[in-house]
Amino acid sequence: MAVTVTEKRLPIGGKWIETGEWIVIRSPYSGEVVGRVPKAGASETRRAIDAAEAAMREPLPAHRRAEILVRVAGLLGRRHDEVARTISDEAGKPMKAARVEAARGMSTYTMAAVEARRLAGEVVPMDASQPGEGKLAFTSRIPIGVVGAISPFNFPLNLVAHKIASALAAGCAVVLKPASQTPLSALLLAELEHEAGLPAGWLNVVAGPSGEIGDVLVEDERVRLLTFTGSGAVGWGLRERAARKKVLLELGNATPVIVEADADLDDVAAKLAAHAFSFAGQSCISVQRIYVQRDVYDAFVERFIPRVEALVVGDPADEETDVGPVIDEDARERILEWIEEARRAGARVLTGGDAADGLLRPTVIADAAPELKVSCGEVFGPVCTVNGYGSLDEAVALANGTRYGLQAGIFTARLDTAVRAGRELEFGGVTVNEAPTFRADQMPYGGVKDSGNTREGPHYAVREMTEDRLVVIAT
Ligand code: NAP
Repeated sequence: MAVTVTEKRLPIGGKWIETGEWIVIRSPYSGEVVGRVPKAGASETRRAIDAAEAAMREPLPAHRRAEILVRVAGLLGRRHDEVARTISDEAGKPMKAARVEAARGMSTYTMAAVEARRLAGEVVPMDASQPGEGKLAFTSRIPIGVVGAISPFNFPLNLVAHKIASALAAGCAVVLKPASQTPLSALLLAELEHEAGLPAGWLNVVAGPSGEIGDVLVEDERVRLLTFTGSGAVGWGLRERAARKKVLLELGNATPVIVEADADLDDVAAKLAAHAFSFAGQSCISVQRIYVQRDVYDAFVERFIPRVEALVVGDPADEETDVGPVIDEDARERILEWIEEARRAGARVLTGGDAADGLLRPTVIADAAPELKVSCGEVFGPVCTVNGYGSLDEAVALANGTRYGLQAGIFTARLDTAVRAGRELEFGGVTVNEAPTFRADQMPYGGVKDSGNTREGPHYAVREMTEDRLVVIAT
């Protein structure tokens, strides 16, 4: 365990402030202190909004925004080890996965820079209707205004990047509230933006009590858009209270994947073993429900279980570790209870099912009924179910039988089956012959149903963060 103790300040209006109180960040693995950040509240949040509003009075041209974004991508590359280590220390994310996240952060900034440069409106074909004759009209994309951003613990760098890099590309200043468990990566990113030449007030960060900071972000009318990634209960609650703002929600999932009899079972077993347990299942699109065509059920399980059992469980700082801790003891206890509920209901635990030295073992559960929490809730832990099905109709119905709709996947050798799954699975994204945990940062990423109401990925987020301004000229 190699933990670095870091102390950070909060950037508000170009100053790096302290507040007299601190939030202490502990390793989810060892409990050791890994850093501390000043604790902000309502007054710092109001100051942050003042600063963001003031910054936007002097717009930054697109080429400067793009240059800053490109420089941040470069800095993320040069400081890769430090960035990955910070993610790993505060989130308990294994270094393997933390390195992937740090590299994806570069990709997010690079794509945001592209979007900054190509942000444009369109010419409206005015003579397409009689009243338009003799008029010239065009639209421009105008920044929506100050963006309030709230991010979760599980991707403490790259999900912050999706919000703040896209906002800068759109020309919006930001007030960011990172998760209290993981503010260090967000503040490191803020330092890199500062080093890359971001002027004062464009990015302000407030860490602290979520209710107090959230209330100010909801109530202050100068915050024109709230972008939230996290749990449904909090997200939908914010949206209800912020009736006059645009509220973008990226929420949870109970990710299903269908394995058809014609799939390459070795490939499927390898991909699903990696993607059901990476970061201990704490990704919103971690594979949770596997539905296997009955003719190949046993053959799949035979291939899958040894791969799951081969995953290295241990210290996230170790470069060999695949599965580390879940974020805290409450999460661990809840997940163990969900496993127990499944056992009591007659489901079979094929491997795992317990914790050793505070770490949950990767767990696979067979014959889990749809109403069990491990089937219909979001486990957010290293647990997946494997159930058999007969027809593709049945598999699609099982996969869709959830209030969630973020991503789903299918493995099949048949093109028509793949196309049908793409049409019938009620999710924001469908992967074919790839685990539904797959995400590249330029993709439109987001959910339907309880999983959200928007798409993230710089191109799509920039569209949300800008508005059409129409100009009509009589000629
Ligand atoms: P969470 O408990 O909802 O917290 C997310 C953020 O909301 C944190 O910054 C939290 O602050 C803040 N928050 C909590 N209560 C608030 C309130 N009343 N007002 C304003 N902000 C409030 O979620 P989490 O446990 O960090 O993250 C896990 C969830 O995120 C899972 O459901 C996962 O599926 C989802 N997720 C979705 C995506 C996606 O792209 N769709 C990606 C990643 C994660 P504090 O930390 O200070 O409490």
